Amino acid sequence: NLYNMVQDLKGNIRVYCRIRPIIAGEKSNVIDFVGNDGSLMILDPLKPKKDGRKMFQFNRVFGPTATQDEVYNDTQPLIRSVMDGYNVCIFAYGQTGSGKTYTMTGPSGGSTKDMGINYLALNDLFQMSRKRKEVISYDIQVQMVEIYNEQLEIRSCSGDNGLSLPDAKRYSVKSTADVLNLMKFGEVNRVVSSTAINNRSSRSHSILTVHVHGKDISGSTLHSCLHLVDLAGSERVDKSEVTGDRLKEAQYINKSLSCLGDVITALAQRNSHVPYRNSKLTLLLQDSLGGHAKTLMFAHVSPEGDSFGETISTLKFAQRVS
Ligand code: ADP
Ligand code: MG
Repeated sequence: NLYNMVQDLKGNIRVYCRIRPIIAGEKSNVIDFVGNDGSLMILDPLKPKKDGRKMFQFNRVFGPTATQDEVYNDTQPLIRSVMDGYNVCIFAYGQTGSGKTYTMTGPSGGSTKDMGINYLALNDLFQMSRKRKEVISYDIQVQMVEIYNEQLEIRSCSGDNGLSLPDAKRYSVKSTADVLNLMKFGEVNRVVSSTAINNRSSRSHSILTVHVHGKDISGSTLHSCLHLVDLAGSERVDKSEVTGDRLKEAQYINKSLSCLGDVITALAQRNSHVPYRNSKLTLLLQDSLGGHAKTLMFAHVSPEGDSFGETISTLKFAQRVS
């Protein structure tokens, strides 16, 4: 009905903010107030309280004590809609060290406690597929790619599943154990490729795509995608301090993040022209951004005073797309 259609359109782009906890050694706290209605008040640590207050509004704000399960709880409806044929993109945005990878993957070190959205989402999809198996049979495949300096790369590639090269990066998965194995493989790949790659991971966009194929008893089929995107760090680099490759990287990151912002803003404003073609990321995700697709952006911020400038720019970016 019309009401649902309107709700559906309004609900197509959502922005959540997540504030990570203070890490040992960090000092001041810029968070003044976290409302359960999505409001957030932050304080400029260098200004008197009455002048330094800034207010932001999102669909939801998760404070430093929010658990992975709480965050997932508010993400689950989107994930579940993938099983009904919707395409969904979830982005983790923020400066390096603000908690993007924690939200998407989980704590560093590969413990299976406090797993992030990637794992919880796949777990959910498997459960739904089992529940519905009498009515629809689902096939779930995952794919991992990385975009570095506007170039697409395959991040993990085992090659022993007998697939031909163009498909080699898609893996059929039946259980969370399969996914854990793949994630471990991705992790191992990164560790063995030296710290250079680890540093590089904050300067590339890393995308886990879940392809869902469904076929019901009447023979009709559905195909949808869930893209889980851990974006490159959004921090601005000082142009007077970096040169060469590092400057080039920073320029590519700025460009692709601002293109992403432009695309989501154009969609939110229902502009007739959406500039998908301006970056590899938006081009790759074009079919899952806009139309009936659903988008969720997590804006990650650190609560400590030294990050205040980056925190403001992250919150402004997120406010712009919401
Ligand atoms: P990013 O991916 O944005 O660079 P990380 O996810 O690696 O940031 O987070 C930086 C550090 O903070 C990591 O050690 C991570 O485990 C920790 N951290 C981030 N968010 C949280 C959180 N919500 N709870 C506990 N620790 C967190
Ligand atoms: Mg990271």
